[in-house]
Amino acid sequence: MTVLLEDALRTLLPLVQPSCSMRLPLEKCLDRILAEDIISDMDFPPFDRSPLDGYAFRLKDVQKASPQKPVLLKQVDYVPAGTWPTKKVEAGEATRIMTGAKIPEGADAVIRLEDTIMDGEYVEIKHYSEQMGKNICFQGEEIRSGEVVLVQGTCLKEGELSMLAMLGHVTPLVYEKPKVGILATGSELISAAEALSPGKIRDTNSYMLLAKVLLAGGEPILLGQVEDDIEAIAEKFYTNPGLSVYITTGGASIGDYDLMEKLFARLQIPMLFNRVAIKPGMPVLAGQWKDSLFIALSGNPAAGSVSFEVLVRPLLLKMTGVQKWHRPRVKVKLHGEIKKASDTRRFVWAHCWEKQGMLFAEPLHYQGNGMLRSMLKANVLLDIPEGSVALEDGVELEAILLLS
Ligand code: AMP
Ligand code: MG
Repeated sequence: MTVLLEDALRTLLPLVQPSCSMRLPLEKCLDRILAEDIISDMDFPPFDRSPLDGYAFRLKDVQKASPQKPVLLKQVDYVPAGTWPTKKVEAGEATRIMTGAKIPEGADAVIRLEDTIMDGEYVEIKHYSEQMGKNICFQGEEIRSGEVVLVQGTCLKEGELSMLAMLGHVTPLVYEKPKVGILATGSELISAAEALSPGKIRDTNSYMLLAKVLLAGGEPILLGQVEDDIEAIAEKFYTNPGLSVYITTGGASIGDYDLMEKLFARLQIPMLFNRVAIKPGMPVLAGQWKDSLFIALSGNPAAGSVSFEVLVRPLLLKMTGVQKWHRPRVKVKLHGEIKKASDTRRFVWAHCWEKQGMLFAEPLHYQGNGMLRSMLKANVLLDIPEGSVALEDGVELEAILLLS
């Protein structure tokens, strides 16, 4: 059964959910997806503090200060960062204070050290500025106690890790990564480490999918290469149970040795569909095997890659727990032409660049189904609707941005 891409996604997305969650030490959490809301139990800063090295005092004491008539304030206390003031600042007094230290009671202004002269136990202030009253980082000005600071589904990058550290969350709850089995089928395949012999090619799909699964936040498990033999393929699944998703490449079409359809029957997997109306990447078989999702892709590298991008990637992203599953799309102007008309929706690897505020995209050479060279330079996939005629230079097209 051939389905539209949107229908394929509508069928499969509800079948997948974020994996279980677990607590991980903060240093292991980069790129993990948060599985809980983080609510602050404190204000930040936790107390009014000084943003600079200087003197804290009462603003009204220096209102008349001028180079001709400097104001002298008596130093009564000294507060380096990490210590606590011991004296209230009274009229005519100042406290020497370092960056990050608590503003003493009574003070409502801070002046930079560079703008003062120390004369014995007195500090000389030669001007007045309202800015001095703003040289205070007020308690809670960044974060209020009770505020939701990070929401479930957030990807933890360096900002989020430092925020969690600030709030004392050293073992946040994160989602487990979906475990994705990757199996390359085809009697012509040898591993990348082996020497070529007549009729054989090295398995490239396993590495392509490994990279794509990692980039989507999954945990790839390479199941190796297996010949076109239904029992040998089935054996791979029986000996590697319990993964969230199984992705195979090869044998997904209708050739003599395309065994995936038979494998579905052999493993008793009810088939949800066996073709998606896109080019390249039309052969895609999907079903559920026990609690796992089972997806068979074309062995052709460009075809399998497109099917993964537009169909499998959103499913994996949903399983990681993030909230957005689709890549950003942009409008681009076609640079060059695409002569071939097509009844089917097409995806074309292209290179996109910006010029004078407009995005242009040029289809890359080596677009063949079985080629992978075009993927080297591609930063967008042009999405050309079904029933398109020949496309001329300059027409506007939609493109999927292939960022990371
Ligand atoms: P298939 O989907 O089995 O009909 O294979 C289509 C084409 O992709 C054939 O030329 C295969 O040799 C090639 N192919 C299949 N699997 C792989 C793989 N893992 N790596 C590279 N090429 C492959
Ligand atoms: Mg094959």
